[in-house]
Amino acid sequence: MSNPALLNHHLILTMVRQSGLEDIYQKVMDHERLSFDDGMRLYETRDLTTVGYLANIVRERLHGDRSFFVRNRQLNPTNICEYSCMFCSFYRREGEEGGYTMTMEEIAKRVQDGMKNGIQEIHITSGLHPTLPFSYYTDMLRTIKETAPHIHIKGFTAVEIEYYAHHYTMTIREVLSQLMAAGLEAMPGGGAEIFADRVRKKICDEKSTAEGWLAVHAMAHELGLLTNATMLYGHIERYEERVDHLMKLRNLQDAGKAKGAKGSFNTFIPLKYQHENNRLKNLPEVSAFEDLKMIAVPRLLLDNFPTIKAYWVVIGKRLAQMALSYGANEIEGTILEERIMSMAGTDSAHGMTERELIKLIKDAGRKPVERDALYHVLKTYEDGELDQLIDKNLSLPVLN
Ligand code: SF4
Repeated sequence: MSNPALLNHHLILTMVRQSGLEDIYQKVMDHERLSFDDGMRLYETRDLTTVGYLANIVRERLHGDRSFFVRNRQLNPTNICEYSCMFCSFYRREGEEGGYTMTMEEIAKRVQDGMKNGIQEIHITSGLHPTLPFSYYTDMLRTIKETAPHIHIKGFTAVEIEYYAHHYTMTIREVLSQLMAAGLEAMPGGGAEIFADRVRKKICDEKSTAEGWLAVHAMAHELGLLTNATMLYGHIERYEERVDHLMKLRNLQDAGKAKGAKGSFNTFIPLKYQHENNRLKNLPEVSAFEDLKMIAVPRLLLDNFPTIKAYWVVIGKRLAQMALSYGANEIEGTILEERIMSMAGTDSAHGMTERELIKLIKDAGRKPVERDALYHVLKTYEDGELDQLIDKNLSLPVLN
């Protein structure tokens, strides 16, 4: 067998056969939907190489070599929260040391700082503040839009939306409609945690149920919003609960499309549980092996999600870089400032520079593509200009 392509193909088939995943490989090659049982086998196998190989086939089929990023800023206007989820290091009670609520001036200042860094998107999440009026949130959106009309606002998890509906005696539709009228353009995917009741009761029993979280996203899609979805993994969840979570997301996406919803899920982001300063801190940290599986298996099961994002904040920059070969087609953006995960022990308080992000992607053998909040391509960094950009600003650590 002297033809290198044939030799490669033969080696790949041997690898797949030895993994026992030959039937799943065939389904991937035939563009066939994977089942719950397939998902279980992908999580249970120790053959990460084959799982990653399969996920990369789908990733390259959808996006080729392109790896997206956005210049964005996170904004966490208050950490005052009425709930007390076991895994959370961010929340404080009203009056407790470390609690804060930003004024409109402070919010405008953060937006102005973001503009100096060329941000395209602002990503807002907060605690569930028991005494703020609803107008705080609509005023905040208007303040951001007045300060920077071109910046897209992605904000409020489904948990926040559901809390506002109960707290201010409104329907989910009314909450979303009023926030959209004030400037909301997309929703993040937080608060999903794990949909299994068994786990939710133990780690976040005050929070929305799975049905509640999914109902908020269904309404957001009906109203035309693009939203994201997450899964918190690496605590007490089981493989079958991970697969169940992914199936529920896939089903909701199918149902929205069948109903002709104007919006949809765009991105799935696996969030690894972080250990410091919370009540689950005695759990062991899951391995990098699991981190990469949490990129690859969702890429294979979520066949109706365009994007799988590697969130460097929780898995680290180097593993996020590797994730680009295991199914991820995006790395979380510059973020500038991050409080929720950094309070739980990550090294993310000050974000990442655009240059560092671009180099990270390039060194993974992918093509960096800067996008806006609605996934319009703003710039594709070709090799020559990328080298110039990096040379011109070379104060970067060498990653490889
Ligand atoms: S995860 Fe959210 S809802 Fe739960 S305690 Fe933290 S801020 Fe509050």
